[in-house]
Amino acid sequence: MSTQSIVIDLRSDTVTKPTESMKEAMITASLGDDVFGEDPTVNALQAKVADILDKEAALLVPSGTMANLIAAMVHCFKRGSEMLCGDQSHVFKREGGIADLAGVYVTGLKNLPDGTFELDDFEKHVRGSDDHEPITMMVSIENTHSYCGGKVIPLEWIQKLSEIAKKRSVVVHMDGARLFNASEQLGLPPSRLARDCDSVSICLSKGLGAPVGSVLAGTRRFIDQARRYRKMLGGGMRQAGVLAAAGMVALEESVPFLSRDHGRAHYIAEQIKNLKLSTFTVEDMDASQTTNIVHVKINGKGDITSRKVTERLALVSQSETSCKTADGLGIVVLASAKPDSKTVRFVLHHDVNDYDLKHAVKKIQLVLTEIDKNK
Ligand SMILES: *Cc1c(COP(=O)(O)O)cnc(C)c1O
Repeated sequence: MSTQSIVIDLRSDTVTKPTESMKEAMITASLGDDVFGEDPTVNALQAKVADILDKEAALLVPSGTMANLIAAMVHCFKRGSEMLCGDQSHVFKREGGIADLAGVYVTGLKNLPDGTFELDDFEKHVRGSDDHEPITMMVSIENTHSYCGGKVIPLEWIQKLSEIAKKRSVVVHMDGARLFNASEQLGLPPSRLARDCDSVSICLSKGLGAPVGSVLAGTRRFIDQARRYRKMLGGGMRQAGVLAAAGMVALEESVPFLSRDHGRAHYIAEQIKNLKLSTFTVEDMDASQTTNIVHVKINGKGDITSRKVTERLALVSQSETSCKTADGLGIVVLASAKPDSKTVRFVLHHDVNDYDLKHAVKKIQLVLTEIDKNK
């Protein structure tokens, strides 16, 4: 990568750096030993998240992966219990610890493009009366749904799912790594989105821009048990208030910026659509359902892979003179691939400004047009 380039990193909303006000808060935070429950900043953050989600209690953990793992450990307390989830969900595709460390039997239900799955399919999969089978204890849903393209999960669907789950004694967990994106897009408070779920995890380090941390929320009893597992997994952190302080600022200051990220994702999608290229399709960007993620699908059975596209986006070629900025710089766009090799993913976030957006679009248009022409 040339040092003469401007680099716009759209791989994930995890790449954001802490803002000045986050750093300031980290320096001045009141601290204590959180394993003793004595860090006032951690306690304040946990109380704040519990309040925002309208749950009895909350627990700061190092990552979203640990939050979901702990939820599985608490809910699936019987040995060999089963967790149901969508087959495109993060817990299914990316969180092997639920099987490895929690010993939970994980079954993926076929995800629909909107991030949901058929409720009939869910109910049919609930099992436990037959000695040959594991006992279904938990279902995990994801909102927004990352690999389905940052989709907001419909509230009526969550409500219906939770009614079935209750009837069948199955606990509902929501992986809300991007719950605030969903809440901003719907214009409804996060507590409304979390209402029908027994437990919820949220990430402070995605769209909200904090450097580290996720929070798990639920009943007091659930959180008391979660705290034990957090310690067991090595997630008990001492003066964690330095992290919680940034998380507090993220909750207070970053949320309003999420709609801006969504608008920019829609803008990028429109600009790609307008090129009318046969090689690329922008996955359904119904404005009411999509948020800060753009998926560009590579059509046909040819040898164009998402890797080829992302590598080209990260390269400034000789032919890009027409693409140079006023400063005479080349443009590098970092994108990532959905784990299917035929979808390129752009994620908008806090650290992208108008200048970056304009140049990113220019580069994306150039590269997609070039690949389409040479196919
Ligand atoms: C990022 C992510 C996680 C995991 O969070 P980490 O902090 O990276 O461990 C879980 N679920 C979803 C939907 C995510 O996007």
